[in-house]
Amino acid sequence: MARIIAVTNQKGGVGKTTTCVNLAASLSAMKRRVLVIDLDPQGNATTGSGVDKSALTTSIYDVLVGTHSVQEVYQFCDPAGYHCLPANGDLTGAEVVLLDLPSKETRLRAALYDVEQEFDFILLDCPPSLNMLTVNALAAAQGVLIPVQCEYYALEGLSALLQTIDTISQALNPALEIEGILRTMYDPRPSLTHDVSNQLTEYFGDKVFSTVIPRNIRLAESPSYGLPVLHYEKQSRGAVAYLALAGEFIRKRAA
Ligand code: ADP
Ligand code: MG
Repeated sequence: MARIIAVTNQKGGVGKTTTCVNLAASLSAMKRRVLVIDLDPQGNATTGSGVDKSALTTSIYDVLVGTHSVQEVYQFCDPAGYHCLPANGDLTGAEVVLLDLPSKETRLRAALYDVEQEFDFILLDCPPSLNMLTVNALAAAQGVLIPVQCEYYALEGLSALLQTIDTISQALNPALEIEGILRTMYDPRPSLTHDVSNQLTEYFGDKVFSTVIPRNIRLAESPSYGLPVLHYEKQSRGAVAYLALAGEFIRKRAA
């Protein structure tokens, strides 16, 4: 049975997509079967996985509105090593269309029943807002992975996110739990990084991954080649960090 993880934070630019793509590639390199689902109309996880979002004939949009199954839409990404359910700008319209459909919050969850046996991990790349797409992700997931940049406003946004997770958990998905807090674009120099980092540990305890993702230019470059960093420059600090995260992730699951 797949473990379904929503990678979410309503703040943009914190490393959600980078984490989805690179954690997926690292888990695949460790022989896990992974599906990445792009839930952001910007389609960055799609592009970063090597799929041309302007050439899509079907996308996650078709799955959400119910005209296609997951298997009819997903693509295997080579050399990334995982399957991707791609997105493009069409998804912008999904919000409005979903409102008029039955079970609007749980359509993704229902669509994933079909493929739960096919994968070990399903990673959901959420848009930077708490909209109906994010609600679908949180209703479908068992775990929430929250990338956080250790800066002053990071904690402010987190309480709104935790409230949303709590509300959705009570209404739709009682088993939902925090999978982990991931410190991204980590720069160990400023003392603010340590302050925020300490506050995260105080509040979330061992839910904070001990792996931190450093700021690394290769991580920012690799999406323009449609490659996870592991397949772009496997010796880079970014690649090493995401491999370490995948290792920690698998160990946590096994524990
Ligand atoms: P989100 O999906 O949360 O909006 P992204 O993953 O798209 O965030 O990251 C935002 C920007 O920062 C992108 O240009 C990405 O390439 C870059 N980036 C993300 N993580 C790192 C990192 N660890 N080091 C350097 N650049 C990064
Ligand atoms: Mg993103």
